[in-house]
Amino acid sequence: MVKKEFEDGDIKIVIDYEKCTGAGECVTACPVDIFELIEGKAVANNVSECIECCACVSACPNDAIEHSSC
Ligand code: SF4
Ligand code: SF4
Repeated sequence: MVKKEFEDGDIKIVIDYEKCTGAGECVTACPVDIFELIEGKAVANNVSECIECCACVSACPNDAIEHSSC
């Protein structure tokens, strides 16, 4: 299981790269542009700017995103 954690303060976003297919729904869904695709996989940047809206978790069709607040 290949997972990567992106953490800042109380917020932790975990992306499961066995599930992520890189279609980028999270990139589109996030209102503060936390996600980008690198080599076909989602990564989370600037996690401190996350507003904990949970849109990314809802948008991912593969349940690849875990969020500490959602
Ligand atoms: S929405 Fe899910 S599957 Fe699609 S790029 Fe984001 S994490 Fe990967
Ligand atoms: S919870 Fe909302 S603001 Fe935070 S990364 Fe997900 S979509 Fe972006």
